[in-house]
Amino acid sequence: MTVVSGGIGGARFLRGLLHVLGPDDEVTVIGNTADDIWLFGLKVCPDLDTVMYTLGGGIDDERGWGREDESWRAKEELAAYGVEPTWFGLGDRDLATHLVRTQMVQAGWSLSAVTTALCARWLSALRPAVRLLPMSDDRVETHVVIEDPGGDGRRAVHFQEYWVRLHAEVPAYDVVVVGQADATPAAGVLEAITDCHVLLLPPSNPVVSVGTVLDVPGVREAVTAAPAPVVGVSPIVGAGAVRGMADQLLTALGVEVSASAVAVRYGARARGGVLDGWLIDTVDQAQLPVIEAAGIACRAVPLLMRDLRASASMARAALDLALP
Ligand code: GDP
Ligand code: CA
Repeated sequence: MTVVSGGIGGARFLRGLLHVLGPDDEVTVIGNTADDIWLFGLKVCPDLDTVMYTLGGGIDDERGWGREDESWRAKEELAAYGVEPTWFGLGDRDLATHLVRTQMVQAGWSLSAVTTALCARWLSALRPAVRLLPMSDDRVETHVVIEDPGGDGRRAVHFQEYWVRLHAEVPAYDVVVVGQADATPAAGVLEAITDCHVLLLPPSNPVVSVGTVLDVPGVREAVTAAPAPVVGVSPIVGAGAVRGMADQLLTALGVEVSASAVAVRYGARARGGVLDGWLIDTVDQAQLPVIEAAGIACRAVPLLMRDLRASASMARAALDLALP
């Protein structure tokens, strides 16, 4: 099966899914790369790394990103030199991943090939049936149009600056994904959508994670036309996102922050959208008729990924909705 993923929401869902599947069930993950950023001459791919570390057992579980048992000496040294930016969480252990990736990219390898090489360490032994593909080998970067906190009017900042430095606390007006229109899907991405028997959209951010993958030219069309059922899981529970900044970005795009509004925005495949089914949390049960009226099959189940058991039962519910 194939799963589109951002960072933490996708990775935790995937961990639950792999718990439900057999060890030989093949899973292709199409990872968001629109969060990627070059820092200190290094290519950093936050969402790919979150998936790789989470499934490979190297994640800092509490933080939800970066390596466990991390230290920050290099970051402190860079700050001591007064080198900007100082706000990005660059851990010492994590740094090795960025060094290897950058070295390979600069030697001419595609991001897909580099990702496969990095995953050889994390996934080959533990999760041999899992393949992680970046959505594209091309540079695609999400920027957020904000009100400049310095009072200089509106300007666009890299998504990482909006989220990590500004904590999504400044007003956001728009999301602009630089390079998206000219990007092509990475090798294997369209095939993974067209040839799978189930396609899942985990509760990743609908704008800057799943949205940016779907907006790689050709991907949304492939999802709409795929022979397999497509089921998504709501990242919105009750009145807001479980974590992250989906609320602010949905609002910036004029979309109401609710499980049903996100489903309606994705749309039913029968009507040109990307969903056959949508899971909402039991607290949102009252929205079920709206979603079904939009042509999307819907079930209400607990959607908080508190632990592996909770994530696994969400994944089970998504599979049951996909393949009743
Ligand atoms: P990021 O790239 O690290 O921001 O991660 P994702 O885009 O994959 O996931 C972020 C989204 O996951 C946010 O919009 C959250 O609302 C959602 N999320 C996080 N934890 C949970 C959870 O336990 N349940 C649900 N339903 N959504 C969650
Ligand atoms: Ca992300």
